[in-house]
Amino acid sequence: MGFKTSVNGSSDIMTQAILRYGSWPMLFLGMSAWIIHLAATDHGILPMLGVLALTMALTFLIEHLIPYQPNWNRSHKDVRRDWLHAIVNLTLNRALLWTLPLFAWMSMSDNVWPADWPFWVQVVFAILILDMGIAAAHHASHKFHTLWALHAVHHSVKRLYGFNGLMKHPLHQLVETLTGVLPLLLLGIPFEVAITLPFLVSLSLLAQHSNADYRLGPLKFVFAHAETHRFHHTNDKNGNYNYGLFTNLYDLLMGTFHYQEGATPSTSTELGIGGRDDYPKDYRVQLIQPFLDMQSPRPMPDSRPRRTKT
Ligand SMILES: [Zn+2]
Repeated sequence: MGFKTSVNGSSDIMTQAILRYGSWPMLFLGMSAWIIHLAATDHGILPMLGVLALTMALTFLIEHLIPYQPNWNRSHKDVRRDWLHAIVNLTLNRALLWTLPLFAWMSMSDNVWPADWPFWVQVVFAILILDMGIAAAHHASHKFHTLWALHAVHHSVKRLYGFNGLMKHPLHQLVETLTGVLPLLLLGIPFEVAITLPFLVSLSLLAQHSNADYRLGPLKFVFAHAETHRFHHTNDKNGNYNYGLFTNLYDLLMGTFHYQEGATPSTSTELGIGGRDDYPKDYRVQLIQPFLDMQSPRPMPDSRPRRTKT
């Protein structure tokens, strides 16, 4: 689809500008606020699923209206596989959510969680802690062979679009989720706050991998979304930066933040796993491949030189 610009296309240019600068606040900030409102007013899980489905549909629409790389909107014979990854991982995350009350015994004390804070502040607090835990697990997944074998499934993609965030080995998703959630369980996170997290994680994953050419301006240094996350999927050493899911806070603290104006990857040949263009593409094989890689460790993702564009 895509808008065309021309000398007389000022209205198209205006529309593009509105979509570029307006879609991210609507799809991430607006939809996140809607999820938090639904949880705060005890509307139950179904309306939240509706907001998530609406966000997914709008994300795919906007990817076609303002594509970052038009070729990445076309199937790379990966659509069926990515749907399977998405359905399995969304189901597992939500199933895990319902087990949270079983872990209430882990709470250090009833008084640790700041339950007297406004609800939305409690959610932001939870997100910041979750973000640090997930980013640490993600960072470790680029350092240790066993974790990398599981995480490599996510890095095998040759195009970036909204669904990539859910394209993970379910065991690796479990590792990341537990690492992020454990500190919250220790702090005694209330179930009403916790119920927002799988949805907010899904919204952030959509924003992080979207092929929409949206712009955050200076906020790209705060939020770990597409403009900075695209570097993380390069098949060279640039892929060992930007581990955050919601924010770049962890990366700024750990010295693993990377952004280079004009050097963002824009071709499939720049994406994937260095030296492993043969990584299996079939869903069932992707479930098994990490265990084969654990038997005969493969090169780690930092084995290729860092790419620099001038
Ligand atoms: Zn990674």
